Amino acid sequence: MKIHEYQGKQLLKKFGVTVPRGIHCTTVEDAVKAAETLGGKVWVVKAQIHAGGRGKGGGVKVATSLEKVREYAGQILGMQLITHQTGPEGQKVRHLLIEEGADIQHEYYVAALTDRATQSVAMMASYEGGMDIEEVAHKTPEKIVKVFINPLIGLTDEQALTLAKGMGMLESSIPACIDTLKKLYTCYMETDASLAEINPLIHEGDGTVKAIDAKFNFDSNALYRQEEIVAMRDLDEEDADEVEASKFDLAYISLDGNIGCLVNGAGLAMATMDTIKLFGAEPANFLDVGGGATTEKVTEAFKIMLKNTKVKGILVNIFGGIMKCDTIAAGVVAAAKETKLSVPLVVRMKGTNEDMGKQILKDSGLPIISADSMAEAATKIVAAVK
Ligand code: GDP
Ligand code: MN
Repeated sequence: MKIHEYQGKQLLKKFGVTVPRGIHCTTVEDAVKAAETLGGKVWVVKAQIHAGGRGKGGGVKVATSLEKVREYAGQILGMQLITHQTGPEGQKVRHLLIEEGADIQHEYYVAALTDRATQSVAMMASYEGGMDIEEVAHKTPEKIVKVFINPLIGLTDEQALTLAKGMGMLESSIPACIDTLKKLYTCYMETDASLAEINPLIHEGDGTVKAIDAKFNFDSNALYRQEEIVAMRDLDEEDADEVEASKFDLAYISLDGNIGCLVNGAGLAMATMDTIKLFGAEPANFLDVGGGATTEKVTEAFKIMLKNTKVKGILVNIFGGIMKCDTIAAGVVAAAKETKLSVPLVVRMKGTNEDMGKQILKDSGLPIISADSMAEAATKIVAAVK
């Protein structure tokens, strides 16, 4: 799960990291009022969407008068902000953060993240922070220093010093930087984050170390114990079909292909997608209906898959273990009827009550193509959509 920058900064602040004063708002009037409340002569108007690269996309503007704040807020609110992380259609801006301007002397990069390769939490830092960090990571990875943290010990003074020096932090600001790194680590651990990134972290003219941006990802499996984080969820920023699916306890991920897949079990769902690819087509989604799929759940799953206009055929692949094939077959028939299914449907099922299931499909009078093996199922659906 992701959150907005303004929420990320609230978290950082709670854990003691210095952030600019800022006010979240959703209208141009409130943006101007926010700037008045903050005072000063320079403000930053920042689009709040769940994607990075906003600066380059025109979603971050520095204003030197209240008129400019009004102008920029008007331009940014409601725009389709396109960044390298949003996809070509962009993301609609519904929220703004108005901040006091910072006295940026240098932009550094720091992040805490789950490193799968070492199975530990890594902290990374670089002198080359700011808007081109992806390029730095790609072309000159040696410019990013990393430490791997023992969870029983936490980030040590020595490691924090390695990072602060490695990132070339202004000598006199090293103690403040070490303090910030430790607080970032604590924040990451206590919020069950999988990524906590500050890019840029800056030092100001008076040596203050400050977080200018905040990007968080959280481990969804830990949300049950993170009430405060869950309250920050913004469904407008998430894929509408995925949100709808989660209401019915369906694990659904949109993909780019044209073959909808309805499968029980994540492993079988992955294998099904691989098989579709092996036979020369692309899956339109990942969909795991889970172990206890009811007719209602299967119908919802069909509706969600069919909302995607790219879907030209559906492959149902079920292993009847706890879930019985006849239950799924009844669900598939009901769903096909209710959604007035007009695309080819291939069903493969194996396991408990397999024969009963197949009979239900046959008796339905619907043009359902049945298959025995995964290869046969994939061959048939790929042929049907071509
Ligand atoms: P991102 O592009 O989505 O990562 O958005 P950021 O919050 O990182 O902002 C992009 C860039 O805007 C930063 O790297 C800074 O160069 C600039 N910026 C952000 N806040 C300020 C500020 O207070 N003053 C000035 N001068 N520039 C800022
Ligand atoms: Mn940034």
